[in-house]
Amino acid sequence: MSGGEPLREAERVMTICNACRYCEGFCAVFPAMELRRTFTAADLRYLANLCHNCRGCWYACQYAPPHEFAVNVPRALAELRRASWRGFARPKGLAGLFTRNGRTVGAAGLIAAAVFLLWAAFSAADGLWVRQEGAGAFYRMIPYGAMVGVFSALALAALGALGAGLISFLRQTGTRTREFFALKNQRRGLLDALRLTYLEGGGHGCNYPDERFRHGRRRLHHLVFYGFLAALASTTVAAFYDHGLGLPAPYPWGSLPVLLGLGGGLAMTAGLAGLLYLKARMDREPADEGGRGMELGFLGLLLAVNVTGLLLLFLRATAAMGLLLALHLAAVAAFFALLPYSKFVHALYRWAALVKNAAEQSAAERDPAG
Ligand code: SF4
Ligand code: SF4
Repeated sequence: MSGGEPLREAERVMTICNACRYCEGFCAVFPAMELRRTFTAADLRYLANLCHNCRGCWYACQYAPPHEFAVNVPRALAELRRASWRGFARPKGLAGLFTRNGRTVGAAGLIAAAVFLLWAAFSAADGLWVRQEGAGAFYRMIPYGAMVGVFSALALAALGALGAGLISFLRQTGTRTREFFALKNQRRGLLDALRLTYLEGGGHGCNYPDERFRHGRRRLHHLVFYGFLAALASTTVAAFYDHGLGLPAPYPWGSLPVLLGLGGGLAMTAGLAGLLYLKARMDREPADEGGRGMELGFLGLLLAVNVTGLLLLFLRATAAMGLLLALHLAAVAAFFALLPYSKFVHALYRWAALVKNAAEQSAAERDPAG
């Protein structure tokens, strides 16, 4: 097989696992593996993105180190998964952002903070540190048109790059477009993604941060994911209030945008803090150490978005509003700019792998002998 070391190691461990098959009840990876006798690069990229890193197969494995086979499925698949994201990234010229990604995220956050602070300082009608109240208070700090223009451009660029990345995923994992977009496969894959079925480790929870079975990681992921959706809904409702009803922000406590934003922000903050805590305590043996910076950078940036957003909500009627607005917008801008080149892509490609898995398993159920 041509390809780098992550592909060779993933092929080696999958070949051993396919002969052993002890872990087939843990997750979707092993049943998908068993549909194959040999593994192409496309198969391995798909299996790597199907793995949820629950670590059940690491603690159960009789061939893990110090055995001479040295099987470490979570690490092998995590290293290949990270390498595959570089290959999926579009435009290709930006794939390098996945290298030393933690530093990239940190630098983007700092640059964005400097830009937005300067911008707010120069554009604020009455200065940055001054109390602004009433409808349109935020736009007296940073003009409405400029704010909408910058964030629309960032969101469109991110969506375009993520869409192109998804097309690369389909091509590089040998996924047929027709099967991928079939409604029944989308429904099954989406349900597995929304429930995080394969962080259940066959029903007992996953082995994270150590060998004990726990449901905590799955619940924290749910807090982050559904909190993110609530925050997105808050922004959408606020845009409708502004453009559709002519009611500019800020909105009162008890209004729908504030309730959704507050609920989503608190849920995400709790989920992200919990995930960071688990990451600090996790067993490093089955971990992809090269991806640690990327994971911490992503969690840290999303936490910065939420903490600055909550502070802005609680302190919006004080003189700190301008400073907090600039810092919050900076964190959001950095987050959107790096959306296709950060750990965020794991959500996109895992959903895509789950849909491919749904198509394969449906076909296997229809034709067990095939
Ligand atoms: S991880 Fe180990 S025990 Fe599990 S299927 Fe692979 S070789 Fe067998
Ligand atoms: S780490 Fe979990 S999800 Fe990944 S292959 Fe092992 S059992 Fe499956």
